[in-house]
Amino acid sequence: MKTNKAYIKLIEKYNANNYLPLPVVLTRGKGVWVWDVEGKKYIDMLSSYSALNQGHCHPKIIKALKSQASRLTLTSRAFHHDMLAHFTKKLCALTGYEKALPMNSGAEAVETAIKVSRKWGYHKKGVKKDCAEIIVCENNFHGRTTTIVGFSSEKQYRDGFGPFAPGFTIIPYNNPGALQTAINENTIGFMVEPIQGEGGVIVPDKGYLKSCYDICKKNNVLFIADEIQTGLGRTGKLFACDYETVRPDIVIVGKALSGGAYPVSAILCDNPIIDVLHPGDHGSTFGANPLASAIAMAALDVIVQEKLPQRAYTLGNWFRERLRKIDSSAMKEVRGKGLLIGVELTKEARPYCEALMKQGILAKETHKMVIRFAPPLIVKKQELQWALPRIEEVLKTH
Ligand SMILES: *Cc1c(COP(=O)(O)O)cnc(C)c1O
Repeated sequence: MKTNKAYIKLIEKYNANNYLPLPVVLTRGKGVWVWDVEGKKYIDMLSSYSALNQGHCHPKIIKALKSQASRLTLTSRAFHHDMLAHFTKKLCALTGYEKALPMNSGAEAVETAIKVSRKWGYHKKGVKKDCAEIIVCENNFHGRTTTIVGFSSEKQYRDGFGPFAPGFTIIPYNNPGALQTAINENTIGFMVEPIQGEGGVIVPDKGYLKSCYDICKKNNVLFIADEIQTGLGRTGKLFACDYETVRPDIVIVGKALSGGAYPVSAILCDNPIIDVLHPGDHGSTFGANPLASAIAMAALDVIVQEKLPQRAYTLGNWFRERLRKIDSSAMKEVRGKGLLIGVELTKEARPYCEALMKQGILAKETHKMVIRFAPPLIVKKQELQWALPRIEEVLKTH
């Protein structure tokens, strides 16, 4: 079996039809580059939605994976293991939080944040039993569990999956006044993406996060930042909230914490919040396992040692400027921060992504009209320079 087509036929035969991938079957990756089963090479401009900030098969991360995999992989949390101390110490030291609670997927970490903030609401804020409310934003993306899609404003994410959990209020994004209005005595948290990635790379106005944070503080409401996509360097700072010197009460991380190698997520917060949890309250068989811990440590080391936030900042500014210079009637706006970039088109983005693929550039449409460019943060300027004329040609001729 050699062709992309042959693989896709088999994939379609044996898999649920819940994705619409570009018609390419990848078999190898190194840095920003990936190869398909026919030997064609592409630059990965999606980075698995920012899970690959460190690039494909980073040697340090793979080394950590191999070495840990041959020593100890899983203990469950029924026993301690020696990697957990190292991993959480590193994560807390880097981010400046007192405690971490690691999980596996991003959605699980979001669920964890919901559980912890609700319990904080009942035990610390004094909200009446089962009355806690969390405020979220329109156009949000926080994952795919039934609770989470229950507060999505995207019809397709919800359609056919109800009934949903109560306790969530949806307000417009980028509107601090709406937050102020929506808060009542039962409000325990405000959960927000500093930039809406899946929502089409929507960057809120300067000062939005800070205003919302101040409103939360005034009302004893937890400010919960979902930095699963924006965090760990992607937007040009360690966290996108750093742009407004906002220190959230709870930060949710995932994606790049995995180094692209193995799912790892976590929530970060301080003792007065996390200490509402007691043995038996929450858990996950695979959460914070030795293999995950070793890989996440290496993933964090690469972010720091290779200065990925700074790279994203500088290259992102340059790349966005270059994209803005492209003269194409199909382009409406280039936006983003760091290397989380959205190019909004005047027409559907899918055919452009297919054309980019033919040019050796893998990018994916988000929200129909937007192409997201989010290469691994280890990308070199020359590699972006390789991509630019190809992007230009596609945007001009299709
Ligand atoms: C990807 C993402 C999630 C969900 O993460 P999974 O690992 O896919 O469950 C949640 N929030 C944001 C902002 C994301 O980008």
